[in-house]
Amino acid sequence: DALNQSLSELRDINVSFEFFPPKSEKMEQTLWKSVERLAPLKPSYMSVTYGANSGERDRTHDVVKRIHQQTGVDAVPHLTCVDATPDELRQIAQDYWNSGIRRIVALRGDLPPGTEKTDMYAADLVSLLKDVADFDISVAAYPEKHPEAPNAQFDLLNLKRKAEAGASEAITQFFFDTSMFLRFRDRAAAAGIDLDIVPGILPVTNYQTLVKFAGFTNVHVPAYLHRLFEGLDDDDQATRNLIGANIAMDMVKVLAKEGVKHFHFYTLNRSELSYAICHMLGVRG
Ligand code: FAD
Repeated sequence: DALNQSLSELRDINVSFEFFPPKSEKMEQTLWKSVERLAPLKPSYMSVTYGANSGERDRTHDVVKRIHQQTGVDAVPHLTCVDATPDELRQIAQDYWNSGIRRIVALRGDLPPGTEKTDMYAADLVSLLKDVADFDISVAAYPEKHPEAPNAQFDLLNLKRKAEAGASEAITQFFFDTSMFLRFRDRAAAAGIDLDIVPGILPVTNYQTLVKFAGFTNVHVPAYLHRLFEGLDDDDQATRNLIGANIAMDMVKVLAKEGVKHFHFYTLNRSELSYAICHMLGVRG
């Protein structure tokens, strides 16, 4: 049909993959197997999340370093500012620059429980990083609004501040409603936000985990997703993978047809679904 026809004509699609630092020996093996599997697809970069708990920054940096050494792919650390002083952040940024890192995903991070305000938001971190060196900076965007923002316009102006502070791309929170993403992209353009808006694609393999996660990230899970996964909780992973891949493939087909050229995959350290979706998009390495 027309959608598959236009898909076969796709050119110049870029992808990036997101991982998190593993917390056990078994998770470590899964991560490196996935990195090895996805690296030949020549992603623009592979990014590694950063959790606020102690020791995590070193783990993020270790994974970033090893990805680059092992695969030659550009590796990108995430960095949050809620849990560090400006001096510490400048030092971290300088160390990253000195070790050859040229892109950072700059985030505020989630507020510690019981906290309602912070001195530093992501836009301030972008400025701080740009003062240290001329990094390429990715920031977060929320097509369905960040949970703390009073309204969508406030949140959009926050994205504009991040762009004006020097970010060059915004990776979105995961979502399932492609027309909602496209409206968000239009609103950002109309607001003069000069950023590449990169859809964050979460290939779903576990519906229960998704529902939990979507709850605190303000992401709407459409009823059809529930119906698709219904009755499969105790089924084998392969069946759920097929359903998850099908959902994500439908999404990326629509988005690619609407001109999206860069997709960011929340891999959750697995490679199967992201690899298959990339293959379908013509990303073959
Ligand atoms: P900001 O852009 O600073 O916005 C946070 C909130 O504050 C918004 O509601 C905004 O509207 C509001 N706001 C901004 N400026 C002001 C102001 N001056 N006054 C009042 N309100 C203001 N978290 C991690 O801990 N580690 C990670 O590695 C990580 N990676 C992520 C990657 C992506 C692609 C995404 C989408 C999210 C990621 N997160 C990560 C989650 C992120 O840290 C949280 O969503 C966090 O709550 C907000 O971060 P932010 O950078 O979007 O913050």
